[in-house]
Amino acid sequence: MQLRNLQKNIYDMYIHHDRKRGVDKTLDWLLTEVYELYVAVKEGGDVSAEASDVLAWLLSLCNLLNIDLEREFINKYGDKCPKCGWNPCKCGYREYPNKKVRITRTQ
Ligand SMILES: [Zn+2]
Repeated sequence: MQLRNLQKNIYDMYIHHDRKRGVDKTLDWLLTEVYELYVAVKEGGDVSAEASDVLAWLLSLCNLLNIDLEREFINKYGDKCPKCGWNPCKCGYREYPNKKVRITRTQ
């Protein structure tokens, strides 16, 4: 199954809930699922199930934002690194992203 079909399935299943929840709360839910994936990897858990949840919530968010993730992903990462233009990537190895982000939960 292609990503576009998966996104359509998520749309059909959940768009009525996603529209009611809205972008901000759907984004919060996605971050919660990313954290659950983090915990599953670090501490042991059902990593496959958590990774699936992350993709499902990412697709829900994309549905709300009218993003065709398959098209956008192929445009950006299709067959070469978007930064250096090579496959395999020739960018310098980085242990962590350069961006420093800090997420604080309000609840
Ligand atoms: Zn690269």
